[in-house]
Amino acid sequence: MKIQSARHIGCATELESCPQSNLPEFAFVGRSNVGKSSLINTLTEVKGLAKVSSTPGKTKLIHFFRINELWTLVDLPGYGFAKLSKVKKLEFNKSVSHFLNGRTNLKQVFALIDSQLEPLDSDLAFVDWLQECGIQYSIILTKIDRSAYSKVSNNEGKLIKLLNDYGLRPTEIFKCSARTKRGRVVLLNWIESQLPREQKKKKCKAIHLGWMNK
Ligand code: GDP
Repeated sequence: MKIQSARHIGCATELESCPQSNLPEFAFVGRSNVGKSSLINTLTEVKGLAKVSSTPGKTKLIHFFRINELWTLVDLPGYGFAKLSKVKKLEFNKSVSHFLNGRTNLKQVFALIDSQLEPLDSDLAFVDWLQECGIQYSIILTKIDRSAYSKVSNNEGKLIKLLNDYGLRPTEIFKCSARTKRGRVVLLNWIESQLPREQKKKKCKAIHLGWMNK
């Protein structure tokens, strides 16, 4: 999938105030500092579209980005902030869980996990919760350029084993680097493969008209 347009269409603190839309949505979520903003900027090729955080845990809004006028990328607030009080953490998880459970056009959740680290309990607990709720999810291992290939493979192997042990079945596991762009095309093409036929047809029509008007 080629990115022809990517624009911020709104943000919300809770499900009720999210922008109305019938377009399929793909949500990105992970621990603070996992590399989510960097990955969103790399995927869309818009520098600074999602803010690369300087203060972990500061972004508490759900952000919506319309891509190619065909689908929506949802940037969910990160979990596991050391800096937030317990009450704030709970509040925050509540709005994210409402969104994930209540958003009818949500197609897939990408749970981002840092490839440099051995699988963390909080990441496993989160995907376990997604599965319990019946939410479709995939895993994206981030920052794969940062460590040696053997370390990334080793951590991936441990993660796959733990997922199996707990009966967790992500739709896919992707490996990406925001810095080198590795994995970008694979991920975008996979998202494209998940778009409903009708929308693919619309895209073909737009391309066709573009060609005719030249
Ligand atoms: P977020 O809090 O999940 O949005 O994470 P950020 O995108 O702000 O990234 C956290 C830190 O990791 C920043 O210093 C980024 O420059 C760095 N980072 C993010 N992705 C990558 C990557 O793919 N490779 C490398 N080497 N660094 C990355």
